[in-house]
Amino acid sequence: MEKICVAVRVRPPAPELSPENGSSLWKVEDNRISLHKSLDTPITTASYAFDHVFDESSTNASVYELLTKDIIHAAVEGFNGTAFAYGQTSSGKTFTMTGSETDPGIIRRSVRDVFERIHMISDREFLIRVSYMEIYNEEINDLLAVENQRLQIHEHLERGVFVAGLKEEIVSDAEQILKLIDSGEVNRHFGETNMNVHSSRSHTIFRMVIESRGKDNTSSDAIRVSVLNLVDLAGSERIAKTGAGGVRLQEGKYINKSLMILGNVINKLSDSAKLRAHIPYRDSKLTRILQPALGGNAKTCIICTIAPEEHHIEESKGTLQFASRAKRITNCAQVNEILTDAALLKRQKLEIEELRMKLQGSHAEVLEQEILKLSNQMLKYELECERLKTQLEEERRKQKEQENCIKEQQMKIENLNNLVTNSDFKRNQSEDFIISRKTPDGLCNINDISNVPGTPCFKSASRSFVVARSNNYSGLSDFSPMVYSLGGVADEDTWMKLNKGFVADLDQIQFTPAVKCQPTPLSIATTECPRENYIEVEDLKSQIELLTNDKDSLQVKFNEQVLLSNKLMQEMSELKQETLTMKEIPNRLSESVANCKDVYKDVIGTMKSLIADKESPTANLLLGSTEITTSLLSTLETQFSMIMDGQKTGSSIDHPFSDQWETLRESLKNTTRSLLSDAQAKDEFLNCHNKGQETAALEERKLKSELSIIKERYKELEKELFSDKQLLEASRESHEKLLKEVQFLKEERDSLDRKISQSTQRLRVIASDKENALKDLNVEVKRRKDMEEEIKHISIAFATRHKSFVSFHSEIKSKMQKLTTQNSKAP
Ligand code: ADP
Ligand code: MG
Repeated sequence: MEKICVAVRVRPPAPELSPENGSSLWKVEDNRISLHKSLDTPITTASYAFDHVFDESSTNASVYELLTKDIIHAAVEGFNGTAFAYGQTSSGKTFTMTGSETDPGIIRRSVRDVFERIHMISDREFLIRVSYMEIYNEEINDLLAVENQRLQIHEHLERGVFVAGLKEEIVSDAEQILKLIDSGEVNRHFGETNMNVHSSRSHTIFRMVIESRGKDNTSSDAIRVSVLNLVDLAGSERIAKTGAGGVRLQEGKYINKSLMILGNVINKLSDSAKLRAHIPYRDSKLTRILQPALGGNAKTCIICTIAPEEHHIEESKGTLQFASRAKRITNCAQVNEILTDAALLKRQKLEIEELRMKLQGSHAEVLEQEILKLSNQMLKYELECERLKTQLEEERRKQKEQENCIKEQQMKIENLNNLVTNSDFKRNQSEDFIISRKTPDGLCNINDISNVPGTPCFKSASRSFVVARSNNYSGLSDFSPMVYSLGGVADEDTWMKLNKGFVADLDQIQFTPAVKCQPTPLSIATTECPRENYIEVEDLKSQIELLTNDKDSLQVKFNEQVLLSNKLMQEMSELKQETLTMKEIPNRLSESVANCKDVYKDVIGTMKSLIADKESPTANLLLGSTEITTSLLSTLETQFSMIMDGQKTGSSIDHPFSDQWETLRESLKNTTRSLLSDAQAKDEFLNCHNKGQETAALEERKLKSELSIIKERYKELEKELFSDKQLLEASRESHEKLLKEVQFLKEERDSLDRKISQSTQRLRVIASDKENALKDLNVEVKRRKDMEEEIKHISIAFATRHKSFVSFHSEIKSKMQKLTTQNSKAP
């Protein structure tokens, strides 16, 4: 166990302010920093001691030498190491970590030093990997590969916490790394604020993974893996001072929030181990990544930077209080070795060799054999034990995760309940109401309140926890607020309060509920299984619930489709009605053609009666045209009747009207033409021969008027036929359209039918799935029980075997001692 190394560095005053701030109010003496009044009298309450305090004249070289060098060297030896800079904006964090051309910062110096150190170690070979990431607005971005954005943190049994998808470059010399850092630096988020024209808006983590193993065969094959994190945090800021707005304000909120959680973690860790409850590493990505560095397996140093200007005194005090608390944290660093099977065997072999050496000269070959056998057995047991432990750990981890999840949900429900209860409480101001629900230990018993929803376990604890927390928080305004109060605003005062060290209520401020279960011996694992089973059963229940929901939604869809189908049916019947109406059109047309035929017959009859000479060419022509027209009109009639028949039978009909219509027109024209020419000839004949005859003239006028009537009638007939033709065309088109529509509707109906049958099928599958899930659930419960039994048996068997082995071992040991004393006594 060792304490975290904490140092403070005071930045030189900003050049433009230096004349008026000639003497700083912060005085540095040895490893102590204290605040003096302007008359140079120290303020006793503001004096702090640290491992190192660097004044304004210090260089990055001296900071590296005194603070970080040992950690870097230890990292090469196989210890995890972390160095980070903490402080307000513009206090010199980036200057300390990155440095300048003339005075490189800790990162560059570390990189060079690592390689220098490696070159000095001749008996080991090294593999170095580097990565560079930033946490910007609570999202992890890869600075070495810009495409890797919003990376996720994962936890692995062997690797621990790691960032998935982060690019790791294998490097062979310092220059290569420095180039990578330069390229990553370009991708970093910077922004201008009132306090720093080049303010870091994200936390950056430069990480080196140093792996090494012995070169020669005589040494152990164990591989050492250490992780070195060099972190430049974004600065805490007071929004009023930075003048932030828009994007900067948003960034500021995230920065303040994550730094506040870091402060919380530090506060928790600085409590004595007994008081230490749950450490909320998981509340921010920064603390999650830095988890090993804070109270874990790592050597850690923190450099807290402060600005000397008078108007920054409050922030500087906050930083020094943070540093004081960090100083109390203890870590437990150890060399990280990965033992391969070969290395393990080699170790065992060495131990056996040592035993053999001890036995040399005793000629106790039988004993030697026995020892060998026992060693092998021991190895086997150890491996078995290791395997079981891993399995157990894995199970426990899963269980913990599930428990956390349940607890989170529980907490949410409890919070809501609490809100309701609190508002009731305030409204009624009734003490009795609360007392009536208190159990003997003074905590509210949730089981008494029958109408509060929730999962049965953990209830009373969570409720008391939430109630206590919320009461304390509302009652004590000076205490640190909860983190989610930062959700909407970047509350600078909150930050200040935290830095001032109001830590007394921290047991109440838990963002992630504490995991109460302690590591348990192997035999206890069996008692944990039922809870695991319970969780698994819960899980399966929720799966069934999901399936039921799925089924319900399918049912809803099915109903919708039935409705749609009904609508389509209705539309189809409407269309059928329309089709019937359309079908009547040919009928009507046929009627009008019959009318035309009658009228035509009348006209022709009249015309015939007017012609005296039945053998004259006019009479012949009239007869010819009558025949043609009658036949055409009959054809039209037949066609219409055919259409009507076709409609009845449903067969398709050819439409030869156009051709026949043309022939009809042509014949009628010819007939008219010949009739006209006849009339003219008749005129001439009458002019020449019967000029004086009054009757003839009368006859002629009569004939003429009759002729004009015929002409008009003909024109009318032509018009009527033409409109009939158009009507026929339109009806044909709409008929075709209707046919298509009916076809389309049929297809749609068919597809709906198919969909409905599919849905029914799916419903059946879901139902059978549900049944299967239930069966699986039963099988799983049984399997769990069997496994519990098995583990119980194995533990018992292992314990007995281990016991017998230990007793046997001690027996052999005593025999060996006896033999040794006999040997030494022998001359
Ligand atoms: P932070 O990262 O804390 O916001 P910076 O490291 O960017 O602050 O420092 C702000 C300014 O102060 C920079 O211009 C930097 O060069 C200067 N500065 C900080 N510390 C020192 C120091 N120890 N010596 C000289 N200049 C410094
Ligand atoms: Mg910075």
